[in-house]
Amino acid sequence: MNNNIKSIEAILPPPHFHMVGDGFRVHNFFPSLPKIGLAGMSPFFLLDYGSKWLVPPSGTPKGVGVHPHRGFETVTIAYHGKVAHHDSAGNSGVIGEGDIQWMTAGAGVLHKEYHEEEFSRKGGIFQVVQLWVNLPARYKMTPSKYQPIENKDMTKFLLDGGKSFVELIAGEYNGMKGPASTFSPVNLFNAKLDRGAKAGFSFNKNYNSGMLVIEGEIKINNSGIAPENHFILFRHDGEDIVIEALEKSVVLVLSGEPIHEPIASYGPFVMNTEAEIKQAYEDYNNGKFGYLED
Ligand code: MN
Repeated sequence: MNNNIKSIEAILPPPHFHMVGDGFRVHNFFPSLPKIGLAGMSPFFLLDYGSKWLVPPSGTPKGVGVHPHRGFETVTIAYHGKVAHHDSAGNSGVIGEGDIQWMTAGAGVLHKEYHEEEFSRKGGIFQVVQLWVNLPARYKMTPSKYQPIENKDMTKFLLDGGKSFVELIAGEYNGMKGPASTFSPVNLFNAKLDRGAKAGFSFNKNYNSGMLVIEGEIKINNSGIAPENHFILFRHDGEDIVIEALEKSVVLVLSGEPIHEPIASYGPFVMNTEAEIKQAYEDYNNGKFGYLED
């Protein structure tokens, strides 16, 4: 009998979707769900989940046009389909299936995000996650940077003789480390489990922790059952979580140390004060985020 279980606070079904631009059909689990709000999953500020969506072929790639960000990091995870991006610092690239882009917006960047050209032309199943990871006040104006993380770069902790595994993006798991560097303690994993496989996790009691079922269905702590597209929010009553795949499953696992600082957010900016939000708009209007063609 384990007395150190991190128990389930809620199993949340996906909220109704909305469109981001014309290319991203997303369910926003937070900050919009009151159960989580602005700080309930801190340091994670936003979770936009693009559940499986059959994108019809299109000659013009759909997506979201030029827009700024400041004060946080965007983590884009492509599960199905490919995402192309361009930014005002001259960076561009494609996030392939299974790959991740970890972008530190920091002081500011302009970028655009689209379906990759060939994917767009052929159409197909599209499934992506975009997470916003907040930055501590002292790093909000850090220079922008990218960490393109290909699937092959992710550390894999094998379970079941390799039929199941935990893929490490950031943080630590059983003494292994994920490739992403972060500004505060963050654990981000994909658990890819064969039917019947189990995976155990142990996170600091105070960390905010959650899981998103990308595929399949899981049983948590031998009690709750979460189907595909559901988000599991955990309490702060213990450390240990065990999940069991009731079918072949993919689960995004998030846990991090909360940033105990005020949050002022508006549109594409996440800062600490209203004055900093005003400043961000002023800088944006004065061209201080650089230039990027539409
Ligand atoms: Mn963006």
